[in-house]
Amino acid sequence: MPDLVVAGAGMAGLVAAARARELGADVLVLEKGDRPGGSMLLSSGVVWRYRDWERFREECPGGDPELQHLVWERLGDDLAWLETLGASVVERETGNPLTTGLRLDPGKLTETLARRASEIRLREPLTELPEGMPVILATGGFQGNVDLVRRHITAEATNLVLRANPWSAGDGLRLALARGAALSAGLDEFYGRNLAAAPQISPGDFVPLAQVYAKHAGVENLRGEAYEPRTWSEIDVVQWTARQPAARARYIVPDAALREPVRDRTVADLIEAARRAGAPVEQRNGETVVEVVAGITTTLGGIRIDGRARAAEGLYAAGADAGGISTGGWSSALASALVLGKLAAEDAI
Ligand SMILES: Cc1cc2nc3c(=O)[nH]c(=O)nc-3n(C[C@H](O)[C@H](O)[C@H](O)COP(=O)(O)OP(=O)(O)OC[C@H]3O[C@@H](n4cnc5c(N)ncnc54)[C@H](O)[C@@H]3O)c2cc1C
Repeated sequence: MPDLVVAGAGMAGLVAAARARELGADVLVLEKGDRPGGSMLLSSGVVWRYRDWERFREECPGGDPELQHLVWERLGDDLAWLETLGASVVERETGNPLTTGLRLDPGKLTETLARRASEIRLREPLTELPEGMPVILATGGFQGNVDLVRRHITAEATNLVLRANPWSAGDGLRLALARGAALSAGLDEFYGRNLAAAPQISPGDFVPLAQVYAKHAGVENLRGEAYEPRTWSEIDVVQWTARQPAARARYIVPDAALREPVRDRTVADLIEAARRAGAPVEQRNGETVVEVVAGITTTLGGIRIDGRARAAEGLYAAGADAGGISTGGWSSALASALVLGKLAAEDAI
């Protein structure tokens, strides 16, 4: 019998399993999908926190301050720990003056952690909680479950693009609630990106087709009703879009904004990617109109945990299964998965 069962071999689950093994435990990792890595493997790999604690609180005012502080305080040491395991650093800057962190190579990170996590049983979802041993739920949130997304987030659930692994469908949440765990704040919130509304969007398009320039554009829904973007991350824009007809919006970009930088590209580059993918892009006098569709990446509400990642007796949750950290805004899900996955393992062993 193992000392610990971990459900999910994504960011939080692999970190938890690697840490528990490092501490000498015998760990069994169950993974529903046909590969390890979860959504982390599809991600840009930027693991970050706000530079200033006060800014974190301002950006995510509804989040649990104890959990936020754990992530904020421990991230530097936990990233250093990942590096000692062999994580490959692509960049030591996030490219955002508000934040600090590392950009890691998701493929190499998955490989490194999976090697350290020992036994991972692929295509074996956790469907029931075993008795008599601690369990860490790290199943990655509920964005893959249309019914739950419809109930908690938007009536337009079937029109959203799932910008994530296909297996994270609320299994952890269901199991935890059955064991008496409580819900966190922010069940109706999610992180995602507005994507060019191309006829086909595959995982390789999740980053290149993201249209992250609402701040330089006029934003309206398909009925012509306008929205004023509020956040640097544009998380408010994608959450708004998700609740509009067909979960779609239009960005109206004045020619003067085309040269504006968006990370290592420009607004014009992103529009060109949209056009090449077959999304509706229309040239008008002095402006370009691009149709976008809301892509859901990670739910931000879920299981309520305490400062040791505990959801109930012998039951832990980490990563997107543990809600209530980014509530009201956006903070790195990879960062909270790292810090709370590691902490869960340390408490469980
Ligand atoms: C395109 C893209 C870019 C992103 N960029 C960033 C970024 O730069 N920075 C950032 O912080 N975040 C980013 N994210 C978000 C981040 O990748 C996820 O929020 C993060 O991976 C969540 O970690 P997790 O461990 O909770 O879930 P995951 O990494 O998704 O892992 C969950 C795992 O659980 C498995 N599972 C589901 N149900 C069960 C079950 N019943 N039993 C066993 N296993 C189960 C799933 O198959 C999956 O492997 C990005 C995501 C995407 C898709």
